[in-house]
Amino acid sequence: TLSVRALHKSFGVLPVLKGIDLHVQRSEMVFVLGPSGSGKSTMLRCCNLLEEPDSGAILIEGDKLTGPGVDLNKMRQRIGMVFQSFNLYPHLSALGNVTLALRRVLKMPREQAESEAIAALTKVGLSNRAGHFPSQLSGGQQQRVAIARALALKPTVMLFDEPTSALDPELVGDVLDVMRDVKEQGMTMLVVSHEMKFARDAADRVVFMDGGVIVEQGPPEQIFGAPTQERTRTFLSRFH
Ligand code: ATP
Ligand code: MG
Repeated sequence: TLSVRALHKSFGVLPVLKGIDLHVQRSEMVFVLGPSGSGKSTMLRCCNLLEEPDSGAILIEGDKLTGPGVDLNKMRQRIGMVFQSFNLYPHLSALGNVTLALRRVLKMPREQAESEAIAALTKVGLSNRAGHFPSQLSGGQQQRVAIARALALKPTVMLFDEPTSALDPELVGDVLDVMRDVKEQGMTMLVVSHEMKFARDAADRVVFMDGGVIVEQGPPEQIFGAPTQERTRTFLSRFH
């Protein structure tokens, strides 16, 4: 469903992605691990065209994200993104944040947007916090609002860049539970995260990146239990 083909990206003279090929199947949850600076965020940002690739292609259900005649905004709607920093509007309630996205991006009339927003907040377990402002919500709740906002737009694929790394440890579990629910509803997900335990039991596949290339990938039991590459072993040994 999401295909990354021969993706290259440099910042100035610094090559950051050196030919990434990755295919995420429908309803698959793929985890990306790798050291700081290995290019994980840059890869996700290229998938959403927050960064422009130097070469290579990104395809959503076989449709190229860029190229002549492609409506970039329409393509972006097919890709939901959740960041480490939740990026909610502080002056809008949880409901207001989700509703605004639906009105702006999908041009939905207010009433319909509000009812869809409530449905999305219900999915992340926050229907009872709809009227709360971000400052009245915990970090975990704010991140769940951000997930609801992305889900409400009914994307084909959801990208997550370290969605729990800004959270206090006791709040991480709720966000991971929501991600598991989203997966169980059939969403295609590409997740950068170092939540190894979660990756072990929820990921369909784990990809290890280092130095702008995919070093190794496979089912979690293989990557965690019997990695074949020295670089993978060295990286994982830091988490034991
Ligand atoms: P982390 O685990 O720390 O989030 P990462 O794997 O997500 O790391 P990236 O953020 O993709 O790594 O960065 C990869 C490299 O690209 C780093 O050396 C970084 O300094 C560089 N880089 C990223 N964005 C830019 C930018 N906008 N301009 C210049 N260099 C950048
Ligand atoms: Mg990053």
